[in-house]
Amino acid sequence: MHSILKSDHSRIASLESLAFENRYAKLPAPFFHGVSPTPLMGAHLASFNAELGALFGLTIEDASQPGFVDYFSGARDMPGAEPLAMVYAGHQFGHFVPQLGDGRAMLLGQVRDDLGVLWDMHLKGSGPTRFSRGSDGRAVLRSSIREYLCSEAMFGLGIPTTRALCLIASSESVMREHVEPGAMLVRMAQSHIRFGSLEYFYHRGDHDNLRKLGEYLLDEEFAHLRDEDAPYLALFDEVIRRTATLVAQWQGVGFCHGVMNSDNMSMLGLTLDYGPFAFMDTFEHDYVCNHSDHQGRYSYRRQPEMAHFNLACLATALLPLIHDDKEVAISLVRERLANYWDCFNDAHLGIVRAKLGFLQQENDDLELWDELLLLMEGEVDFTLFFRHLGALSLSSPTHHPLRSEFIDQSRFDLWMYEYHQRLQRERSCDETRHQSMDAVNPQYILRNYMAEAAIRQAEDDGDYSEIDRLLSLLRSPFSEQPDAEQYAKPAPVWAQSIKLSCSS
Ligand code: AMP
Ligand code: MG
Repeated sequence: MHSILKSDHSRIASLESLAFENRYAKLPAPFFHGVSPTPLMGAHLASFNAELGALFGLTIEDASQPGFVDYFSGARDMPGAEPLAMVYAGHQFGHFVPQLGDGRAMLLGQVRDDLGVLWDMHLKGSGPTRFSRGSDGRAVLRSSIREYLCSEAMFGLGIPTTRALCLIASSESVMREHVEPGAMLVRMAQSHIRFGSLEYFYHRGDHDNLRKLGEYLLDEEFAHLRDEDAPYLALFDEVIRRTATLVAQWQGVGFCHGVMNSDNMSMLGLTLDYGPFAFMDTFEHDYVCNHSDHQGRYSYRRQPEMAHFNLACLATALLPLIHDDKEVAISLVRERLANYWDCFNDAHLGIVRAKLGFLQQENDDLELWDELLLLMEGEVDFTLFFRHLGALSLSSPTHHPLRSEFIDQSRFDLWMYEYHQRLQRERSCDETRHQSMDAVNPQYILRNYMAEAAIRQAEDDGDYSEIDRLLSLLRSPFSEQPDAEQYAKPAPVWAQSIKLSCSS
């Protein structure tokens, strides 16, 4: 137990009365390391996500009380919480690492929202644990701001994701490539169980605990599959479907995760672990956002294939739960895994049609899409292109405002001609199409330079206002917002110098 470091004893009833139900903590010892957060020096609130807080009865007034930060910076024990670091393994850049685990994060416990849904409350940057492997257990302000903003931006886009309740800044120095301020983030998700959580037990040959984890997942997260004849196969099917859909959604908004290792893949199909992620500005098939990824393993183009690789890792870990006879189990999971590409392609094609404003299905829709992306390659802003495309009128054909950015403009004109024909064939109505396209093609995304500007203000001036500004902007990425024109523009040239790496 940590001593109470602050003299302020103000009570925050709504926070202190959160009823923790520490389900994960009831699992046997090998599943975690019980450990308390290490207090963060000079901790102060940088931003509070009032919209998410409201689900738990927490208000901005609560968050403004001095004691609030104590609970989320390790200075005071959260009543009812049983902090622990979860163990997991994972395939990192294709190589199996038998033990990873929360090296700088802790699960405080589970709390219910106002609808009765249980959420993990997770503190990221909370200090060393048994799984820190000699590192400091801290997160830097820079990457915490990025995760805070991007997880809420994803939520705004309607893409499954972990979320973030608040961001705590500090006066503590953390050493990365250079000295940076440390921070903590309160991450919320229905579950933090990863593909790598199952891999951990499988590869140790600990099938008893693997089964316990499987049972836990069925009880807590997949209760609707309990009565299936083969619940673990059904579970695998569902993880395949959710993962395929998630990656198709990423592709649809030009999002690159950056570190799609199997320890960063959520069993619930959530976007998890925001590190060197990026939304592409200019479209590039082989875009790699992570400068440490020299092979381009996690390029935009390869994300669907990498999800398949991770699902194959999960399939292996599930074998003992699927069937006692390993050969039978292998053939069963193989068969299921083969469905991944259908799931992905279906989800992808649905997104493609929606982005192009098609209500009906034609066989050549994917070809039209692929041709467009070839033309856009390396030249055209992905987000703005589709947003503008939605505003075209069929009655008086106008040029696309980004036409001049295409290298091969005559080929693009031909594409536009075919696109018009395609819309005319389904008697597309301008107004309906504008509305439906605006509902799937965002006006605002979290461009790297936008996060960078918020980071610079926070680091240089202790000014967190841009974080709140972006949080509210990105919550409604599809609707035009007042005084936000500057956020709906292509990235400035200086954005090209931003380098993202695994160091966070
Ligand atoms: P990530 O690349 O953030 O997914 O992290 C991979 C592994 O390294 C996980 O087990 C993390 O908990 C651990 N890790 C990353 N950064 C730190 C750090 N600063 N201190 C301790 N462990 C860390
Ligand atoms: Mg991770």
